[in-house]
Amino acid sequence: MTDINELKSFLNVNGIAFRENVLGSSLTTFRTGGDVRFVAEPETSEEALLVINYAAEKGLRYFIIGNGSNLLIPDEGLDILFIRLSGKLKEFEIKNNTVFCGAGASLAAAAKASVAEGLMGFEWASGIPGSVGGAIAMNASAYDGEIRQILKRITAVYQGRIVDLKVDPDLMAYRHSEYAFPNMTVLTAEFELQPDDGGARDRMEFYNQKRKNSQPLNYPSAGSTFKRPKGYYAAALIDQAGLKGTRVGGACVSEKHAGFIVNDMNAKSRDVTDLMEIVHKTVYEKFGVHLEPEVIVLK
Ligand SMILES: Cc1cc2nc3c(=O)[nH]c(=O)nc-3n(C[C@H](O)[C@H](O)[C@H](O)COP(=O)(O)OP(=O)(O)OC[C@H]3O[C@@H](n4cnc5c(N)ncnc54)[C@H](O)[C@@H]3O)c2cc1C
Repeated sequence: MTDINELKSFLNVNGIAFRENVLGSSLTTFRTGGDVRFVAEPETSEEALLVINYAAEKGLRYFIIGNGSNLLIPDEGLDILFIRLSGKLKEFEIKNNTVFCGAGASLAAAAKASVAEGLMGFEWASGIPGSVGGAIAMNASAYDGEIRQILKRITAVYQGRIVDLKVDPDLMAYRHSEYAFPNMTVLTAEFELQPDDGGARDRMEFYNQKRKNSQPLNYPSAGSTFKRPKGYYAAALIDQAGLKGTRVGGACVSEKHAGFIVNDMNAKSRDVTDLMEIVHKTVYEKFGVHLEPEVIVLK
């Protein structure tokens, strides 16, 4: 990345927090990856707009990172600018039936708080370790819930300015969203919920117990490695292909849930991507199904 001093003085003049040479493993739930050259941490929508417009104007390559729970950063690191929403953009509040979130807020924390406030419709999300912005970008879903069912409005940086949009659920689909980087950067979001029918807490606890029983939550991972192919379950295909326990270096196809690759022995990102290739090739050879990665592999 060139013009690093110019970028630093721009951020300093505007009072925008930043860090340099940040370990990739501290930015992702996979806990792998080399240094990211620059991480700017805007605390308000105005600061986020300033950084994004600066990067666009100067032709700096940038990437919006949420909680890094669906990401792989290469071992050699990235000489680019990461933008990670912080400060006010990590907060949320609940008024009546609406949850108002900064896009950097924890999805799970907002979901749990909504249940505590006597609302339902968000309990399925209380075990997903992403940010609100990342969940909107991925149209996160679990059990019987999906982000697009409850997301009503967002503000976002779009084409150089802040826009306020009513969400069209048809612009979101399984692991797809138009409300996502690089198309736009979501800054805030409003979720509309329903009054609790009396079962929200039990459902939340049930889902979280189910996760604990079926997922390898004690090891770093990015959740499901591959998307669900039409008509199949990725985990079932991987299991039936005999791949549970297959290992490259420190990365392993989980014995507990074949859909997860886990970092159980100080894996490199390269171990994970090599293992993904083995899984893809083996499943294709056995079943003729191409598994598409759900994890975003940065280059
Ligand atoms: C143990 C575990 C369990 C999981 N279970 C589930 C599950 O049940 N269901 C599910 O759907 N996922 C699950 N995931 C995957 C992951 O948590 C989700 O994909 C989550 O939505 C990613 O959010 P994030 O903030 O970590 O995004 P990141 O991984 O940081 O980024 C993902 C994408 O979102 C974009 N993005 C992030 N913030 C913004 C923003 N503000 N504006 C625009 N784009 C943005 C990024 O640029 C990137 O393209 C799981 C992961 C783990 C580790």
